[in-house]
Amino acid sequence: MIAKITAKSQVEQLLDQHDTWLFDCDGVLWHGSELLPHALETIELLQKRGKKLIFVTNNSTKSRATYRLKFAKLGFDVSVDDIFCSAYSAAVYLDKVINYPKDKKVLVVGEQGIEDELSALGYSSVMGSDPKFRQDYSEELSATVRRDLEVGCVLAGLDTHINYYKLAYAQAQLEDPETLFLATNIDSTYPSHGRLFPGAGTVIQAVATASRRQPSASLGKPSDTMMDCIKARFEFDPKRAIMVGDRLNTDMAFGRRGGLSTLLVLTGVDTEAAIADSDVKPDFFASKLGDLYELLD
Ligand code: PLP
Ligand code: CA
Repeated sequence: MIAKITAKSQVEQLLDQHDTWLFDCDGVLWHGSELLPHALETIELLQKRGKKLIFVTNNSTKSRATYRLKFAKLGFDVSVDDIFCSAYSAAVYLDKVINYPKDKKVLVVGEQGIEDELSALGYSSVMGSDPKFRQDYSEELSATVRRDLEVGCVLAGLDTHINYYKLAYAQAQLEDPETLFLATNIDSTYPSHGRLFPGAGTVIQAVATASRRQPSASLGKPSDTMMDCIKARFEFDPKRAIMVGDRLNTDMAFGRRGGLSTLLVLTGVDTEAAIADSDVKPDFFASKLGDLYELLD
């Protein structure tokens, strides 16, 4: 039975039952740079009630530090330590889970957020936002595509400057079966300006097709690795935690797999009709996060 949150008593019950609240960001707190109605007030209310809040986003284009600036700009008082983005998750995976050596480089198909999180954990990266790789493809350029023996891993996420040269360069690294292939997240799309845009998954599939390989891990929602990393850091009881998100196949699946309760809000990707069609069902849904504040008011 999926409960729609429409009454004050239901909100009180949610608050009583959950000490740790994991939040997806885009589609829950904001749309791009637009705050969603009463999202800020709801977060402040939870903070006042002493809840532990953790913000989990699949967007790999920004680092946690850049994300914190976005939170601050929109009026949220959030610490960098409470933000998990897929770029950070990927860096932690390399460092703590597989002990990827610091003297090996990571070839990034992606943006600054990934480079910053890698560098914060002591890794050197190549390609990424380097303008050298943003040139139009040409015969001369094709002659420079080569296997870089210092690269032991290709890490791919959304790259809004993806081009043929970058694809060829990533492919050259992945010809070596010893080169790891990782994805920050595999979202097919993300919402922006009232429509859906191609997500990180489209870039990753281009690299996968060219290399005839698939990433051995994806470090965003709904991957267990991201959840393990969050649980290792905060040591919360999943039975007293809830994941709030706008997407069934990432956020709700992530919460469910991690043993948390799940709350879908209808301000982002998925609609009430999508719940009926999906294998992943949330425990609760609400038309927006701000309903929690409004119902308690
Ligand atoms: N990937 C990109 C590039 C995005 O811009 C966004 C949202 O803005 C997402 C993924 C999804 O982010 P979230 O997990 O916060 O919904
Ligand atoms: Ca979202």
